[in-house]
Amino acid sequence: MNTVFFDIDTQIDFLYPAGALYVPGAEKVVEQIAALNRFAGAHEIPVVSTMDAHTEDDPEFRAWPPHCVAGMRGQHKPEATLLSRRMIVPNADVAFNLDSTQQILLEKQTFDCFTNVNLARLLERLDAKRYLVYGVVTEICVKFAAWGLLKTGKRVELVTDAVRSLNDAASAEITASFVAAGGVLTTVSAATS
Ligand SMILES: [Zn+2]
Repeated sequence: MNTVFFDIDTQIDFLYPAGALYVPGAEKVVEQIAALNRFAGAHEIPVVSTMDAHTEDDPEFRAWPPHCVAGMRGQHKPEATLLSRRMIVPNADVAFNLDSTQQILLEKQTFDCFTNVNLARLLERLDAKRYLVYGVVTEICVKFAAWGLLKTGKRVELVTDAVRSLNDAASAEITASFVAAGGVLTTVSAATS
């Protein structure tokens, strides 16, 4: 089955205690995320890694502390989550060639990765039958990605031991409504076996 992995916002500012918008406990899932990305790299499964890429005075900083300013250390992904053949797809109408690309770093400025103007075209190109979604945080950016992918009518699986939330109750509610909407729950070991 043609699968594409969606690795959501696994960036230093979110994942580590020293990050600008640390998600408590997120550092504990970095190894899981890295394992999924490595598995994808080894099995020719494309990985779409969404990334916040904000300007220094981004409107989002009225509601949240400044984080993931483009080019700053905190905006980067941990080395362990990077694949060697990767390309950046900015949120601007650009031509992209996916030949030999393992990992697509999809930049965005809001919670919803579907606001990147290239994502619809990218999904057409990738032509997946199944999507696996993981990363941070479950009840915000992961939710937008999972719901947007469900709307494509394809199979969408949420990797429940490779996500982290800010609020456990909100996360549980999102997970339940994801299943009610036709989503499927999986784990890292099931997804990589
Ligand atoms: Zn942001």
